[in-house]
Amino acid sequence: MNLFNVYPLFNIKPVKAQGSFLWDDKGEQYLDFYGGHAVISIGHNHPHYQDRLKDQLEKISFYSNSVQNALQTELADKLGKLSGLEDYHLFLCNSGAEANENALKLASFHNGKHKVLYFSGSFHGRTSAAVSVTDNPKIVAPVNYDERFIRSEWNNIAQLEEIFEEEGHAISSVIIEGIQGVGGIMIPTVEFLSKIKELCEKYDSVLILDEVQSGYGRSGYFFAHQEFGVEADLITTAKGMGNGFPIGGVLIHPKFKASNGLLGTTFGGNHLACAAAIAVLDVMKEENLMENAKETGAYLENEIKNFPHIRNIRRKGLMIGIELDRDCTEIRSSLLYDHHIFTGNSNDKTVLRILPALNIKKEETDLFIKALKTVLENVSVKEQETVIL
Ligand code: PMP
Repeated sequence: MNLFNVYPLFNIKPVKAQGSFLWDDKGEQYLDFYGGHAVISIGHNHPHYQDRLKDQLEKISFYSNSVQNALQTELADKLGKLSGLEDYHLFLCNSGAEANENALKLASFHNGKHKVLYFSGSFHGRTSAAVSVTDNPKIVAPVNYDERFIRSEWNNIAQLEEIFEEEGHAISSVIIEGIQGVGGIMIPTVEFLSKIKELCEKYDSVLILDEVQSGYGRSGYFFAHQEFGVEADLITTAKGMGNGFPIGGVLIHPKFKASNGLLGTTFGGNHLACAAAIAVLDVMKEENLMENAKETGAYLENEIKNFPHIRNIRRKGLMIGIELDRDCTEIRSSLLYDHHIFTGNSNDKTVLRILPALNIKKEETDLFIKALKTVLENVSVKEQETVIL
């Protein structure tokens, strides 16, 4: 059987990984500055992560959610403490899309309303409701409930106020990323986020913060929106939570009632996934990774900010968008094939997306800085040659 063709694939086959490095089947080494799409939070194969998973495999891997699971309690406890959100309740699932799907559903149970406001540039996942609040004209949601979804422009307060004035009574929830990732590292202004919060309170709408990509310490804060002091009703998380082991969750404000069986999943919160997620939190705390994200992110930005062809750098912690004066595709290819460094792109083709592990070392960051400098200077040389020709 052949694989169903979902993504265009790089011609590289990683077979081994350690820390911030990958090795392919030919023994070639690569520096990982993309973390498999913001998933690798504590580095590949961290010894504590490996030990905790191996230990769990020897005990129990899975049993149904109809019995108690002390690992879920330990995870919720540690997550509450490290994020400072101890009052919230945790629902565990398996992915970012599933977390958002459940958050949208919870919002409707809570206020009995059905419309959802989302923003230009958003990405919330590929399941039916999640894709309906994702800003991509190429994707047609399989269920025709388009009239339920309202798109508003990112960071546009006037439009937001207009929409709420007209339809606020019907808006069940507003879904917004802490920082837009796929959209090209777009950071909300504090005024924008505060206005959303104010309108949600006024109209009894639920504020859903999608922290699937921007959460888990990536921004230097546990969840990116916490920097602004805005309290979310529901927070969705996944990616970095399991460092590669599939796990997602919804942090639910205590004002929400129990789901009475309306939320649920077979695999969510299984023993192995919880062991992985607990190990991530242990390492984040032990190695002070939020601080490292802030410091190393600032160092990197400072070193590259005057490189040629860089127009703008949008960054919080280690969530970094380097806006170039051109499409970044060739630059990304050159970083990968000539310098063996993985980086990412975004829906805005000019933005190179950088998402290294939160425990990236300074000397590893220097490898990236040096390679980026060479690649960008080469662009200038090639341009001059073209002019002379
Ligand atoms: N929300 C955001 C902000 C994301 O970046 C993504 C993945 N790119 C998702 C949700 C979907 O997560 P998953 O692929 O785990 O379903």
